[in-house]
Amino acid sequence: LTVGVPRETIPGERRVALTPDVVKRLSGRGFRILVEREAGVAASYPDELYTEAGATIVPEVAQLYREADVILKVQRPTDEEVPLLREGQVIIAFLSPLTRPELVVQLAERKVTALSMDAIPRITRAQPMDALSSMSTIAGYKAVLLAANALSKFFPLLMTAAGTIPPARVLVLGAGVAGLQAIATARRLGAVVEAFDTRPVVKEQVESLGATFLELDIQSSQDASGYATELEEEHIKREIALIKEHAARSDVIITTALIPGRPAPLLLPEDTVANMRPGSVIVDLAAEMGGNCELTKPGETIVRHNVTIMGPLNLPSEMAYHASQMYAKNIGALLEHLAPNANLTFDMEDSITAGVVLTRDGEVLHGPTREWMK
Ligand code: NAD
Repeated sequence: LTVGVPRETIPGERRVALTPDVVKRLSGRGFRILVEREAGVAASYPDELYTEAGATIVPEVAQLYREADVILKVQRPTDEEVPLLREGQVIIAFLSPLTRPELVVQLAERKVTALSMDAIPRITRAQPMDALSSMSTIAGYKAVLLAANALSKFFPLLMTAAGTIPPARVLVLGAGVAGLQAIATARRLGAVVEAFDTRPVVKEQVESLGATFLELDIQSSQDASGYATELEEEHIKREIALIKEHAARSDVIITTALIPGRPAPLLLPEDTVANMRPGSVIVDLAAEMGGNCELTKPGETIVRHNVTIMGPLNLPSEMAYHASQMYAKNIGALLEHLAPNANLTFDMEDSITAGVVLTRDGEVLHGPTREWMK
């Protein structure tokens, strides 16, 4: 089976889908690996390391698409890349089918077999392939560093000859994978951390990281796969009021609240921001889905009411070395799951395979996209 790794072309994307160590592992298992020239350079993996690991460097991307049975990418194929994909070819990438159903349809029309890394079921057996968790871990960590850098205060408690400096107060909204990593990172830097999530099951995890879980008497909202569901109007109002009270005492707020396939819930309206201390910092990790803060401008850093509001869109790319390493392990594990001994088969009875395959033989198999098509 020939696997092709093109260079990512979306502006600002520095990650690469396979790293040399995973190339070595896959080569050892009988896969033939083609890597586009300089595909790993932006993530600090030069071509020589791929060659040493057993890959062939391909100078022309068109050749790579012609020869590969399976294309491995980080980002979705762009309008320039879609025409390079041919009938029967397999592509695995973050395809965001819930927000881009038109791409899924386009791939089906080209009779491409499309697999999405964000459709890996969140089950124990699929953990080695869970790229969403890997990327959320990076985003949560990096968000705290951005906040610490933008804040003109220390995070830790300091007792110096020039007086005592109290620790920074950090509020984390949403305690999924990114939120929990943000809590852990802020705690390591010495901040006092509070957190809130609508799923009360995370209370114990928040507390085990040394943060305080804010209590609100609203019904548990979690679907069968563990994802949060949207709150009723009345509950959201009560949540916003609780947050406003705690925001006024916080130096930093990291927001990570998301509902799969829906706009991000609005948790920080303008009056909450206006009520914060001057110089405070908000990092809105939900920016891509519209943001948890009313004032967030996706992809920008702005200052309003004396508060810095950051809406970063691709933090994993800023840590491209480790982000690529984690992603490569995840996508490599999926490839080995689908193609043990380098022979690709699609067992649609298997819940992981059934979850990730969006299109096959010209058909859309992804339920939400089929609904969208009606
Ligand atoms: P996510 O990125 O979809 O959402 C982030 C967090 O926002 C979630 O914790 C969610 O509850 C929270 N949220 C939503 N609306 C909110 C609101 N109004 N106010 C405050 N918080 C709000 O979440 P995720 O990190 O992808 O995790 C989703 C689920 O998947 C969790 O149950 C997690 O435990 C589970 N998971 C399972 C595995 C596994 O078993 N392999 C791996 C990772 C995650």
